[in-house]
Amino acid sequence: HNGLPVTMIVTTTLQDLQAGAGHAVTGGGTLIPISDLIQMNAPANKYLAVFDGITGQSLWLGRSKRLASADQRIMLLAKYRGCTAPGCTVNGYNSQVHHATQDWKHGGTTDIDHLTLACTCDNLLIENHGWETHQLPDGQTHWSPPPDVPLRGGTNDYHHPERLLPKDFESD
Ligand SMILES: [Zn+2]
Repeated sequence: HNGLPVTMIVTTTLQDLQAGAGHAVTGGGTLIPISDLIQMNAPANKYLAVFDGITGQSLWLGRSKRLASADQRIMLLAKYRGCTAPGCTVNGYNSQVHHATQDWKHGGTTDIDHLTLACTCDNLLIENHGWETHQLPDGQTHWSPPPDVPLRGGTNDYHHPERLLPKDFESD
């Protein structure tokens, strides 16, 4: 899909994986119990991306078969799950890789920490309408409108509803 073979991409945190509890999230936004994830053993290309549940730092990307050219896109799908523009509901499978800190044609690198996901419409906001993005220390992408646009910028929690939960809810 979008250049990748059909593949299941699942996101979890190191803490949940070690505890064998909680939920993982697929690239399509479906919650899977960790216990089911561990038992899954289908003969398919499997990827598992692990993030620190506290800092959000990318820790590890595991794969059953090497596909180097697709690794960064897979890590971004797992990390962001969808377009990072504030309030945007477009999922990861329908988003493209975007250089969040500096566009490739202006000398941006392909370092994974500088890449994010954006849908076609929001990519055009950057290309043609003066919006800018930068990466926050926790890895989220912050969007800023041009000075003459009376909209608030920000990050996008739509694909990460767990961020809106009280902290003590997650460990129950
Ligand atoms: Zn979008």
